[in-house]
Amino acid sequence: MLKRLGKFFDRSSQTNDGQHLVLKAHEHSLNPKKICRHACEIVRILQKNNFEAYVVGGCVRDLLLDLNPKDFDIATNATPQQIKNLFRRSRIIGRRFQIVHVQFGREPIEVTTFRSNNTEKNEKVQQAASGLLTRDNMFGSIHDDANRRDLTINALYYDTEKNTLHDFCDGLEDLAKRKIRIIGNPSTRYSEDPVRLLRVARFAAKLGFTVEAKSLKPIEKMSTNLKHVSAPRMFDETLKLFMGGYGLAVFQLLFEYRLFAQLIPQLNRLIEQGHPTAKNMVEQALTNTDLRIRSNKRVTPAFIYAALLWPSVQKVSSEYVKQGHPPASALTKAANEVISNQIPITAIPRRFTIAMREIWSMQLTLVKRGGNRAQRSMENPRFRAAYDFILLREQTGESLNGLGDWWTKYQDASEDERQNMVQKLNSHRSRNRRPRKRTNEPNNA
Ligand code: ATP
Ligand code: MG
Repeated sequence: MLKRLGKFFDRSSQTNDGQHLVLKAHEHSLNPKKICRHACEIVRILQKNNFEAYVVGGCVRDLLLDLNPKDFDIATNATPQQIKNLFRRSRIIGRRFQIVHVQFGREPIEVTTFRSNNTEKNEKVQQAASGLLTRDNMFGSIHDDANRRDLTINALYYDTEKNTLHDFCDGLEDLAKRKIRIIGNPSTRYSEDPVRLLRVARFAAKLGFTVEAKSLKPIEKMSTNLKHVSAPRMFDETLKLFMGGYGLAVFQLLFEYRLFAQLIPQLNRLIEQGHPTAKNMVEQALTNTDLRIRSNKRVTPAFIYAALLWPSVQKVSSEYVKQGHPPASALTKAANEVISNQIPITAIPRRFTIAMREIWSMQLTLVKRGGNRAQRSMENPRFRAAYDFILLREQTGESLNGLGDWWTKYQDASEDERQNMVQKLNSHRSRNRRPRKRTNEPNNA
């Protein structure tokens, strides 16, 4: 598909309106049939009402690369209110960036008015001292809209009615060259919105593209700007980074660009100190997550965060044990500490931190299998996650005396076999147990 695009990069042969590249139907490989029909319908209705409207962003990029788009976004010169007036099932959402969710099928489609963040032209665009844009919800032309997008490959507009592809920032050339390039001055664009630092790593990993030198150079130096991003937004971004099906590749780039230190500093520190299993833990957890996503299995942020924070929990907990705390309370104290270190950076919602604590505390309960404890543990709704977590720990090199295998067998075993397995544990344990000291004191228990 890209080969077909290649011939249009000879700028002398392009159909050009003087300001941007326009490819006609026979000059590009996009097919309106590949675009979600609800998105096409929205474009049709907007254009019928004399507005400009295009399918834009990630879906155009992905279709040109023969990938399945995650969603379809639409950009238009209609204002949010005008969009809302045209579609009965629609609502305006967001304060800072007003967008309209238009409901056609089950999934709402995001329709956004062309925006501008040109600080020179537009005094209503507000910036903090760090360069962070605090308000950039000003409407603009399609040119402004293209220029405020993050990457050249994300600034392609497709007119599904006329079947024309519009390129304002040489995105097609970068797609063909497999390059990630920030639109405009990279340092300025990163300070306006530091999340773009993460997006560069995410798209480079997902697409296997190389980051152009100018876009790459300021990343490490500017990584600390991520501190200006709100913790809830950072949490959402971490999900896109680690739950998009390319988590391992994303982690490797984040680590290389020293962005990971800003995301999970406690884990980054352990990795840099050469902790025996910390790096394995991230890599293995993300490998497993990628595989699960590819085979359409469920993944939960609680499991991923439980894995990413486990090496720190273990370290803090073992210090408490050394100070004389019983293992269960040491683990609880460690969990509290580690979670409260992370929350100000990525605001993990409470429902996930509850699940994380349960997965961690079950790492102790699943060791105790005597009597009817094993049976009871299996009935715990968190059992499956806690068992998967044991397997993950073993995969990363922790030695747990065959605990994972034991639980794998136990789950498949018949009632009788299960009793046998538990009895064997008991006899094994009583053989190894030191005899209790007899005392002559009266038993007052
Ligand atoms: P995907 O949905 O596959 O992760 P995407 O490119 O569609 O990728 P979205 O987060 O859905 O990413 O954003 C849609 C579009 O909005 C992008 O393609 C880009 O043009 C623009 N965009 C998103 N985030 C930013 C940002 N932080 N700065 C500038 N433009 C952005
Ligand atoms: Mg998208």
